[in-house]
Amino acid sequence: SASIFANVEMAPRDPILGLTEAFKDDTRAEKVNLGVGVYQDDNGKIPLLECVKAAEKARVEAGLPRGYQPIEGAAAYNAAVQNLLFGDDAELVKSGRVITFETLGGTGALKVGGDYLRRLYPEAKLYISDPSWENHRAVFENAGFTVETYAYYDPATRGANFPAMKAALEALPAHSVVVLHACCHNPTGADISESQWGEVVEACRKNDLIPFLDIAYQGFADGPEQDTAAVRMFADSGMQFLVASSFSKNFSLYGERVGALSIVTENKEEAARVLSQVKRVIRTNYSNPPTHGGAVVTAVLNSPELRKQWEGELAAMRQRILDMRHSLVDKLKAAGVEQDFSFITEQRGMFSYTGLTPEHVERMRDEFGIYAVKSGRICLAALNSRNVDYVAKAIATVVSK
Ligand code: PLP
Repeated sequence: SASIFANVEMAPRDPILGLTEAFKDDTRAEKVNLGVGVYQDDNGKIPLLECVKAAEKARVEAGLPRGYQPIEGAAAYNAAVQNLLFGDDAELVKSGRVITFETLGGTGALKVGGDYLRRLYPEAKLYISDPSWENHRAVFENAGFTVETYAYYDPATRGANFPAMKAALEALPAHSVVVLHACCHNPTGADISESQWGEVVEACRKNDLIPFLDIAYQGFADGPEQDTAAVRMFADSGMQFLVASSFSKNFSLYGERVGALSIVTENKEEAARVLSQVKRVIRTNYSNPPTHGGAVVTAVLNSPELRKQWEGELAAMRQRILDMRHSLVDKLKAAGVEQDFSFITEQRGMFSYTGLTPEHVERMRDEFGIYAVKSGRICLAALNSRNVDYVAKAIATVVSK
C-alpha cells in the first residue's frame, strides 16, 4: 500500500535559510553572506562571550543534577529578566503585577504569548509592522490568528513613516493585538523616537489595543538599559501588555534558545490567574524549558563582575556594527556613488534596508558572490575589515549600472 506520506507536498523554503544554503554551495573564495541574522566578529565568527565562558565553566564544575524546571522556568532567571526589562526597582515588579516565563528563545515567547492571546480573544486580529521580521506572520498565523499589517516603513526616507503608523494604530478595533519592535526594527533598522513611542502608547490605550512588544536586540542600539525606553513607557502607562525578549543576540547564545515572555497585568491577583492559564499553554506544548542557557544568563546578570564584563562585550559588538555602518558609507562615497547612503548610519541594530532592488541583489550574488535578502536587507554584523571594501565595491557597481 501507499506510504502514509505519499501525498505530502514540499513546503516552500525559508527564504533566509535558503539563502544560506545557496551561499554554502558557492565556491568563490571572496563570497560574503549578508543575509544572516547573527552577529559575527571581525573574523566572521559567532563569538562565545568571555562572561558566558566563565559562567559555563562554573556551572559544569558545580556538577548539578538535571532535574525538571518549573513550567514557567527558574525563578531567578525570570527575576533577572524583569530587572533587565523594567529596572531593578520597578513598581510593577515589586507589586507583583508582572509574570515572566522562561521560553525557547524570543520565538518561543512569541508563540506562547500568541497561543494564549488567541484563546483569550478568539475574535481578535493581530497586526505586525509593514514590513516585519519574516517569522512574525508565520508564528502568529500558526497560533491561529488572522495576521494583518500596520503602516511602518517609508522607502523615500528609509525611516519610519510615523504619521501613517499612528493613523493605522488609531484605526484598529478594540482588542486587536499589535506587535511592536521595541528597538532595532527588523528588517528595516528604522526606529521611532521616544516622543513618538509616547504617542503609540497613547493610541494603544485609547483604542484598548493589546500591545505585544518584541525586543530581540536589547543592547544593540544604545545599551541594554537605554534600549528598554519603549518597554518602560508602556510600564509607566499602567496598561496591560506583553513582552517577548531574547538573549540570542545580546549574549550570543543563539542555539541555546534563551528567551522570555513577560506579561504585565493589572494587579497581583490577576497575575496569579493569568500565570495559571499560560502555564497550561506551556505544559501542553513543551512542558518546561531547558536549563542551561537560562542558568548561564542568570549567573552572568547576578554576578557584578560578570555583568560588567557582559556590558563591555555587548558594547564592543554594538560598536563594531556601528563602525561597519560608517565604514560602508564612507567607502561607498569614496567609490564615487552618487546616491546618499548616509541613512545606513542612522538605522539601528543589526540590519539595514538599503533600498537595493531585487535586481541589484541578484547582480551582487551573480557577479560578486555577495548574498542578501531580496528585500535589500543586509546584516551589518556580517561585514568586517576584510570584506567591507569588496562589498562597497559591489554595491557601487550594481547601483551605477
Ligand atoms: N523577533 C525578532 C524581531 C527577531 O529578529 C528575532 C530573531 O531573529 C526573534 C524575535 C527571535 O529570536 P530567537 O528566537 O532566536 O531568540
